[in-house]
Amino acid sequence: MVETMKIATERVKKSRISEVDFSNIPFGKIYTDHMFMADYKNGEWKNFRIMPYGYMPISPATPALHYGQAIFEGMKAYKNPEGEALVFRPLDNWKRLNISGERLCMPPLPEELFMESLSALIDLDRAWIPDTAGASLYIRPFIFSADEYIGIKPSDDFTFMIILCPVGSYYSTPVKVRIETHYTRAAQGGTGYAKAGGNYAAAIYPAKLAQAKGYHQLLWTDGKNHEYIEESGTMNVMFVIDGTLVTPALSDSILAGITRDSVLQLARKWGMKVEERKISVKELIEGIESGKVTEVFGAGTAATIAHIELIGYNDKDYYLPPVEQRTFSNKVYAELEGIKRGQKPDPFGWIVKM
Ligand SMILES: *Cc1c(COP(=O)(O)O)cnc(C)c1O
Repeated sequence: MVETMKIATERVKKSRISEVDFSNIPFGKIYTDHMFMADYKNGEWKNFRIMPYGYMPISPATPALHYGQAIFEGMKAYKNPEGEALVFRPLDNWKRLNISGERLCMPPLPEELFMESLSALIDLDRAWIPDTAGASLYIRPFIFSADEYIGIKPSDDFTFMIILCPVGSYYSTPVKVRIETHYTRAAQGGTGYAKAGGNYAAAIYPAKLAQAKGYHQLLWTDGKNHEYIEESGTMNVMFVIDGTLVTPALSDSILAGITRDSVLQLARKWGMKVEERKISVKELIEGIESGKVTEVFGAGTAATIAHIELIGYNDKDYYLPPVEQRTFSNKVYAELEGIKRGQKPDPFGWIVKM
């Protein structure tokens, strides 16, 4: 990519890469050698810089720390058989970052700034992209309000950063989820459609209660009556019902996942019937009992496709058919992995080489 943007780069004196056991990478604990930073001050993005990954000084009066004025993205890079870095649908993450930013009163980030900073950082830390099965380089861009002011108002100053971490598989087994009928992840008119930090802070407690009962994650329902399915943890949720792929329609309480969209596009291309609509807890439970619901899975960047093994509802567990029998989710997982790793054709132009 042509470098039209000036990025001041300070390289590490010595890489930490030899300390990493790439055959056993925990999620989100190991970071690469470098990070990218930019400041928004006096109405413009400036001070583009790449520096060694590490601690940074921050004012104790940073609004992000007090009021959660922070947004983020998550995407992944893979290595193709030729050793090139392939990033999956980064422009969609850029668009979504700006949608989140608008909701949180943050200035838009220009496409060029997003793509060129990403490209420069990936180029520098290219060696950190794992090439083992199931592993990838997780990319975390984020923006936080950086005023030194603890009044509540739209901030003037912001910081944009990108950090990178090599990751292995997210869930190693099929997932057990519980339908949440009391707590709410996102309300109508709230920030559920934005990748805003506070959404996740508030979801930890109900998830912890479910985990104490042996579930991995929650199946969130609407905040009004807990009648309709929304998402699962930090993934979108999808069902195969009577051979039709069904997923909750997007709304302001559902995050528009890029994995979700990719699965929908592939299903439509394969001629499968697809429905984006409301799906009630009642329909789901009755469908599992009658055998109409044959597959349930979460879709998200971190986990890709996460087969759901069972769904807990009102103290009863409802089991889904075994994973080996799930034709669609296994096929779409393999197709997505193939495209992301450059082993299969990319008919939608999802891959950006860096
Ligand atoms: C990030 C996220 C998703 C998945 O989005 P992808 O773009 O597929 O990674 C789904 N739901 C929530 C709440 C999320 O934060």
